[in-house]
Amino acid sequence: MVKLDELGDWRRTHTSLDIGPELDGQEVTVMGWVSSIRRQGGITFLILQDKDGVAQVTIIKGKAPEKILKRIDELTTHTIVAVKGKLKSTEKAPQGAEIIPEDIRLLNTATRNPPFSIFGGKLPNIDKRLDIRSLELRRPKPRAIFKIRHVAAAAVREFLSNNGYLEVQTPKIIASATEGGASLFPVLYYDKEAFLAQSPQLYKEQLTMCFEKIFEVGPVFRAEPSRTLRHLAEIISIDVEEAYVSYLDVMSTLEQLVHHTLKTVADRCTDAVKELGIEVKIPRLPFKRYTYSEVLDILHDAGDKTAWGEDLSTAAMKKFGDIYPGFYFITDWPTASKPFYIKPKTDKPEISEAFDLMAGSLEISSGGTRVSSKRLLTKRLKEQGLKPRMFEYHLKLFDYGMPPHAGFGLGLDRFMMVITQEENIREVTLFPRDRLRLTP
Ligand code: ATP
Ligand code: MG
Repeated sequence: MVKLDELGDWRRTHTSLDIGPELDGQEVTVMGWVSSIRRQGGITFLILQDKDGVAQVTIIKGKAPEKILKRIDELTTHTIVAVKGKLKSTEKAPQGAEIIPEDIRLLNTATRNPPFSIFGGKLPNIDKRLDIRSLELRRPKPRAIFKIRHVAAAAVREFLSNNGYLEVQTPKIIASATEGGASLFPVLYYDKEAFLAQSPQLYKEQLTMCFEKIFEVGPVFRAEPSRTLRHLAEIISIDVEEAYVSYLDVMSTLEQLVHHTLKTVADRCTDAVKELGIEVKIPRLPFKRYTYSEVLDILHDAGDKTAWGEDLSTAAMKKFGDIYPGFYFITDWPTASKPFYIKPKTDKPEISEAFDLMAGSLEISSGGTRVSSKRLLTKRLKEQGLKPRMFEYHLKLFDYGMPPHAGFGLGLDRFMMVITQEENIREVTLFPRDRLRLTP
């Protein structure tokens, strides 16, 4: 058994990113896991990996303190170590500098080797990788993906805050369905049945009464019946709602939000983007807009037989996405195909003021003008087979004057699939949840 050291009063002074020839002669303390040990005659090269990259520790027999020479004999890869030493510039080390150690602490050992290499080679399927996700996340590719996710989420918040939207958090345990019952997860709430929120829809609409422009970035839950590459049971939704505007205005906000996020990722994530071997294309504004009926016409010409009123199937959208691979909106959906809170057109109530934002064949956002009349909302609930009584807590607010409003929900995980060009949503979600997966 290897005797371990305590972290004690040691603290990291530099990460691998800080190390460079300009710090020649400086005392540093670095920490990380040993990704390789190479013994070459009297010299041992220890490669230390931390969150930012790698640093080389060079141990020379005869020069290094006896204690260090003893300890490095006990080292295996994946051991967690802390090294105190002096930086020495050398062209042969990764960052143009190596660490000549003066003291070392072995903070923990690894008793198992990962079932696949962190640095490349053949990978097992995604399920095997997800089983040990946090270890898998030491690989450069997923690290790049989550670096991008961090920057994208920050860019979204930045854009919306800068444009006068207030960030809010609404409850995730709710009393009744927002969009109908099928995809709800029931939970036991004390002695009552409650549900995990499918969307912050009704809360964000209510909040337009007081804050007018709001957004939320938070989890939503869907008991999706089938397991696909683009559906999870828990996702992060970027929800926006605004008073005194229509769907046309929020479509413009949404496309600017998408544009700003992509631009920010392209500007701030050059290394991560390079690691993924992709190019972030900044789309031109405005995005193309097709009405639902126009999409049907184009599909009919391509041999698809979807009838007016039917939902656009995955196969039909695959076809359409092949013709129009970029970002585009589909607007003016049949009212019956959209949730009860979407506003039907006044002069043509069978069509609604609703839109989806698509990236090729993938839906990334849905939105629309909302119904702001209590009478109409009650009627729409009934038409969709929902009981107005169940929505009493929501409907009664409309008695106090609800401004006209519009908004959208943008799935962050789907958006990340588009940004990183990943086919499987599980690659861009840290700990995905689906029918078959509830751990880790
Ligand atoms: P789909 O038809 O693709 O199942 P939806 O129309 O049911 O999606 P909405 O209720 O419109 O989804 O939700 C708004 C956005 O949230 C979607 O455009 C998508 O980006 C995201 N989203 C919804 N459900 C899921 C899910 N199960 N997994 C991943 N993202 C989802
Ligand atoms: Mg939708």
